[in-house]
Amino acid sequence: MPYYLARILAVFIVYLSFVVSLVAQANPASYSGKHLKRIVIRNAMIVDGSGKPAAGPYDIVIENDTIAAIVPLDPVAVSSREAKRPAAGDLDIDATGKYVLPGLIDIHAHTHDERGGMPMPVEYCTKMWLACGITTVRDVAAGPKTLKWRADAASGKLTAPRIFAYGVYNTSPTPATAEQARQRVRDLKAAGYDGIKLFGIDRDLMQAMMDEAHKQGMRVAHHVGVEETNAWDDINFGTTSVEHWYGIPDAAILSRRQDFPSYYNYNNETDRFRWAGHLWREADQDRLMQVLDGMIKANVAWDPTLDIYEASRDLQRAQSNPAFAQYLHPVLEDYFRPNPSNHGSYFIGWTSTDEAFWKENYRIWMRALTEFEKRGGRIGVGDDAGFIYQMYGFGLLRELELQQEAGFSPLMVIKHATVNNAKTLGLEDSIGRVRVGFRADLIVVNGNPLENLKVLSPMGIDEVRNGKIVHGGGVEWTIVGGIPYHTPTIAAEIRDMVAVARQARK
Ligand SMILES: [Zn+2]
Repeated sequence: MPYYLARILAVFIVYLSFVVSLVAQANPASYSGKHLKRIVIRNAMIVDGSGKPAAGPYDIVIENDTIAAIVPLDPVAVSSREAKRPAAGDLDIDATGKYVLPGLIDIHAHTHDERGGMPMPVEYCTKMWLACGITTVRDVAAGPKTLKWRADAASGKLTAPRIFAYGVYNTSPTPATAEQARQRVRDLKAAGYDGIKLFGIDRDLMQAMMDEAHKQGMRVAHHVGVEETNAWDDINFGTTSVEHWYGIPDAAILSRRQDFPSYYNYNNETDRFRWAGHLWREADQDRLMQVLDGMIKANVAWDPTLDIYEASRDLQRAQSNPAFAQYLHPVLEDYFRPNPSNHGSYFIGWTSTDEAFWKENYRIWMRALTEFEKRGGRIGVGDDAGFIYQMYGFGLLRELELQQEAGFSPLMVIKHATVNNAKTLGLEDSIGRVRVGFRADLIVVNGNPLENLKVLSPMGIDEVRNGKIVHGGGVEWTIVGGIPYHTPTIAAEIRDMVAVARQARK
């Protein structure tokens, strides 16, 4: 071939690959879920997760699964095109006007592939998490299936955040002696669980199982319930985190037990949730502060899951979530219908009086939460979704808003969901921050979550730009260990999944 022909051919090939790369860049969905060697996020405002104020602009370089560089940009040098910018990546994300945060961590999640015995694709659950900017979940009711999903998520077989599996201690046959309690802990460890989820338990058995858990290096998340044990036991035995809130006001009741009516039956969920709405008002405030200080001293975190009780204070709001129209899977929809045989579906004869008590309950609870942090406590963010009108992921975003309502700034709320949750998992040196050397678990957000946490929602927000109402917001990219998921694409896949499941029922 003559030289000039070869030359023309070479130029043509370069031109072609340039066009191909342009087309590929223009179609971000084509990168979704792919292993890439190098991603560059350009011109981003960063909220790093530590509670530090937002700062930017920065270029962020991701190499494989790690944040490799965070390069500050001098706006003058950028506008005169003299700034030293990192070399192009396999994917370049223009984050102009966008905020980059650590991926959100859901510290109280349930991975579900069924509700009420009816099958539901596990991808519904895991994609909902990604669509809401969640890059890590702690499954606090993990069974053998969760261990498989954890492996599939890690290998890329399942489109999902990283999963940590906390195995349930109180499975049948429930340990009845101290030795059985210790054996259960050893069995969970041997089966490969990352930690333990503990429900209600008697004191002597808790002492034994917690002692064994410490020996085995297993962290424990405790849903206390109304039991012999309360938060004082979590303080004495060194629980990692108290889930929800039960056990904390209980530990501050001077008579040592809530004043229940004689007909109260704990196993009747309407009874249980109705009277739970009277619990915080019975806590002695001085005693409560001692409980909170005790938890702080013993390094016990508190994951309040404010969102999962919201239906108790405002049933109509919970039942008429606009996101249900496109995102509620029919199997989950069935499960949410009031039905005494489904856990958390207890709204039969729920009254305005119940709601008024619950509103007061929330006020006292939220005050206790802000006191807990003021005094040095670690608050986490989890949603307990899959129950009581809360959808996976959406529940977590609602939790962020409720923590803001409690009195925390969005900066601190984001810290709760990132740095604090990473610490509760024992992973504060590798996830939960935008920092060089950390795992590349990041979200790129269309807007400023410090101004409006609702920008994180797949529902987006309406805003006025140049005098016109436009629809914006939402997470644009959810990056899990360097694997970019184009969030609007994932959200569209969920809407399709829901539409198909509904169609199949017609
Ligand atoms: Zn739960």
